[in-house]
Amino acid sequence: MALVSIGVGNHTLSADAAASLERCFLAGAPRTKINTSTRSEELQMLWYKNQGKPGFPKYAAHPSESKHVWRPDDPQDQGARALDVDEGSGLWVWLVAHGGPHGWHRPLKHEPWHWERDAARDKHKNAVPLPVAQEDDMAVFTVLVLTDAKKTDKDWTLGHADIGGELPQFDIPTNKAMSRTIRDDGDGQVVTMRRGFLATNIESVGHAWARLYGRGDGVPTYRLNRDEYIDAQRALSMTAAATAK
Ligand SMILES: [Zn+2]
Repeated sequence: MALVSIGVGNHTLSADAAASLERCFLAGAPRTKINTSTRSEELQMLWYKNQGKPGFPKYAAHPSESKHVWRPDDPQDQGARALDVDEGSGLWVWLVAHGGPHGWHRPLKHEPWHWERDAARDKHKNAVPLPVAQEDDMAVFTVLVLTDAKKTDKDWTLGHADIGGELPQFDIPTNKAMSRTIRDDGDGQVVTMRRGFLATNIESVGHAWARLYGRGDGVPTYRLNRDEYIDAQRALSMTAAATAK
């Protein structure tokens, strides 16, 4: 697992926390400025040792404690799940009103700008259309983007060998229906489950998938024309079918 771009500035979070924040954005949280997100252990140690001094933060947690620090090898808490947001800013106001059920809370009384995401409190963590791959280095998703000039509608496909099989933590309907609507925004804007992959023509969902599962900073894995897109979908379905056995 690697850090994931959250699509605001150059900020990153762990995949879990980034997916949670994407669900907040999709639920209406505005993408206003974020001051800090993930920082290195070295920087956190520098701040910890110099906290309260001129030019340094008033308070700074030890690198082994700070939820801002990314510690992928720490089995207790991998961190990279904290954000600092100006009090009264759009995102801050939204998180105060709606962040709780998404697991976002403010544990530090003297730092009202500091938000942490707690997976245990997140009531939306199994919601589609943003599956979260927890502690799974094998969870390699494929994001296909249809870029056919003849078709005005863009289309995104999120492919993974397990989406069409049994993957209960994703809470994706796994009946054998050929096609199933998972989200319907009206006017034909939908997220659907089709033959072992998720597809959508909702731009914000497509961009979220690209950010979360594309290779690199928000870059989709593949941009394809219509024929290539259909071929790639077919190949993904076959991979899913083979893995589900
Ligand atoms: Zn903070």
